Amino acid sequence: MESTPVRVRFAPSPTGHLHLGNVRTALFNWLFARREGGTFILRIEDTDAERSTQASVDSVLEDLRWLGFDWDEGPEAGGSYGPYRQTERYGLYSRYAKQLLDEGKAYRCYCTQEELDAQRQAARDAGRPFIYPGTCRFLTEKERQEREEKGIKPALRLKVQPKTVAFRDIVRGPVSIHTNAFGDWILVRPDGSPTYNFAVVVDDSLMKISHVIRGEDHLSNTPKQILLYEAFGFPLPQFAHLSMILGPDGSKLSKRHGDVSVDAFREKGFLPQALDNGLALLGWSDPDGIEVFDLSALMGRFGLDRVNKAAAVFDAAKFRHLNREHLKKMSEEELLAVTRPYLERASRLPEGELNPEVKAWALSLAPLLRERMEVLSDAVSATDPLFVFDPASMDDEARAILAEPDASRVIKAFLAKAKQADLARPGAYRALVLEIKDELKVKGKALFHPIRVALTCAASGPELEMLVPMLAAGARLSLPTPILGPVERCERIFST
Ligand code: GLU
Repeated sequence: MESTPVRVRFAPSPTGHLHLGNVRTALFNWLFARREGGTFILRIEDTDAERSTQASVDSVLEDLRWLGFDWDEGPEAGGSYGPYRQTERYGLYSRYAKQLLDEGKAYRCYCTQEELDAQRQAARDAGRPFIYPGTCRFLTEKERQEREEKGIKPALRLKVQPKTVAFRDIVRGPVSIHTNAFGDWILVRPDGSPTYNFAVVVDDSLMKISHVIRGEDHLSNTPKQILLYEAFGFPLPQFAHLSMILGPDGSKLSKRHGDVSVDAFREKGFLPQALDNGLALLGWSDPDGIEVFDLSALMGRFGLDRVNKAAAVFDAAKFRHLNREHLKKMSEEELLAVTRPYLERASRLPEGELNPEVKAWALSLAPLLRERMEVLSDAVSATDPLFVFDPASMDDEARAILAEPDASRVIKAFLAKAKQADLARPGAYRALVLEIKDELKVKGKALFHPIRVALTCAASGPELEMLVPMLAAGARLSLPTPILGPVERCERIFST
């Protein structure tokens, strides 16, 4: 048996930024296409002239690229089923609308907005849903002519037979809805614009979409669309409706839960791979319970069979945790590349090409960054122990440590030795502290705590064995914000 090639699409309406909800739909489509060796198509559904903007189209393309979802057909990629913007397909829609009219499967409806509004209000007053009663379906030719002569612009409605539309959804299983729930729905509005349900069927059919994977908010549209496939005699695609994403309070994820646009996550310093990872886990789980993936690992493991029909709950802490995990996996070079913009903005690294010493030093910060960052903007606070040294800001705990009996002796000894040593060398700091331990017969907290406070003005913080070489080497460089070396730090502590 010949199998249909996998062709899926992501079809955003360019009325704002992509957010976690719609971008997860993009991810699942993309993963499915890549996993199946299929085609991933991007289609811009810009029929809402008032709300669609080119700026939004641009940001959609940028966000998708940033997240790593390359499209095989669509804007800027081309393809043999275009155009890929609905506003460029109006000719096609009118051709297919005419076909339905000619075949008697659709009819012109002259009911005015006022008439329909009045009927809708009456239904509401009676406590029942408004279903168009089919008024214009049975107009005589004469009645039709009269309305035409009055200059009333008609809408086009589909003739819907009373029946149950049933289909098997890949995620939700069997679904059935009776056509009484919606009646003769509108294909083309009086102004000639196609409705979403009409355009989407024409497009999905002509673009040979094999699987329609989209949000559950479209589930109620699917029966309407199926009737249209039937009316045209188009083969049906398979449908997969993804569950809603909820906020922590159980309501649909939205602006109320903070800015959940892709853009905002990028601004906050999330890595695209962490976002992809977090999105994948919103409604899908790995068969072996693996939680940390990059896009290519996800591609190898994703399947629609493990997409959950229960709603997924967005957990910001989990996204931060995943981001941290992805940061930890980065090489020194990668870490420097992603944190540099933040460190430059904070005047901690120079802009432009780094000289070899600065570059080597910047690369050596990786362990500190890995330990202290969740999102990229944390690069600044993570490097505070190197760049910020302010005895005046010391807290009571740190002051108490300096007031301890051996503190002064220890720091003096450290200072004397530090002047002679090269603390940028790995292991030098440790050797030096061991010497003090032997000579002064001071050990444990009495030894380590005063040195820590003298070097960082704080009672706790990063491992000094890691930090001291960074301080010592950094102090020799010319950085936009100079670093005080270990010796200068001890001297400052004594002078205050
Ligand atoms: N433009 C629709 C949306 O953004 C697409 C729905 C669909 O995938 O059919 O919700």
